[in-house]
Amino acid sequence: MKKFFAMLIAAIMILSAFAALAENGTLKLCTNVAFPPYEFYGEGDEPTGIDIEIAKAICAKLGYDLEIVDIEFAQCIPGVQSGKYDFSAAGMTVTEERKEMVQFTDTYATGIQVVIVPEACEFESIDDFVEANGTVKIGAQMATTGDLYTTWDYEDEGKGTVDRYATGAAAVQALLAGKVDCVVIDNEPAKNFVAQNEGLKILESAYAVEDYAMAFPKDSAIYADFNAALAELIADGTVQGIIDQFIPAE
Ligand code: GLN
Repeated sequence: MKKFFAMLIAAIMILSAFAALAENGTLKLCTNVAFPPYEFYGEGDEPTGIDIEIAKAICAKLGYDLEIVDIEFAQCIPGVQSGKYDFSAAGMTVTEERKEMVQFTDTYATGIQVVIVPEACEFESIDDFVEANGTVKIGAQMATTGDLYTTWDYEDEGKGTVDRYATGAAAVQALLAGKVDCVVIDNEPAKNFVAQNEGLKILESAYAVEDYAMAFPKDSAIYADFNAALAELIADGTVQGIIDQFIPAE
């Protein structure tokens, strides 16, 4: 009898683990819907963008519904790691540190960390600020690679400070208000923010080049199928078609 209950409990635990992964055939995607053109609110206030449309195409291929949960970027990796969400697609850079916490799909896009400054700024790099003023005030989105790299290169080196904001848009507002000297963020959102706000420009010297991928829990049951479907959509040109829709050729 005891053995029967132990088995019953084990069976319930296994079933509920599966339910958390794909509740009623629905995959829970966490992202920060403030990162155009990868994720933003489009027509009818519906989340759209490169990540969202690729995720939708994969779910359609595999027969899952997709639920999009809008959270802070800093919560995306912890949320995936704990299994609260099935995956994250958030213009997320693959880094060695993150690989310890989550497993990444194949990469589907390249990002570049760039520096946004006021239009009148005559400096050509963050180092120019340090050279001229002895310090620099950098704005970044919390827990992004822009935050991590500038923390290592400037804050930890005693060359400046990093102010961390919940969204890239908030960091840009701080720059417009003169609270920081520059903002380090991914190039495509940077272009969007500069286009939407007067008086800003992007420095020509890039800060870092990186690869984007989607993040899954290490023990994810759907990871293999999902990544295989992504690989197919990359191979047949669907992914490039989606990217071209949101990033017009220059
Ligand atoms: N690519 C950056 C990172 O992964 C920023 C992502 C984001 O802000 N959504 O850290």
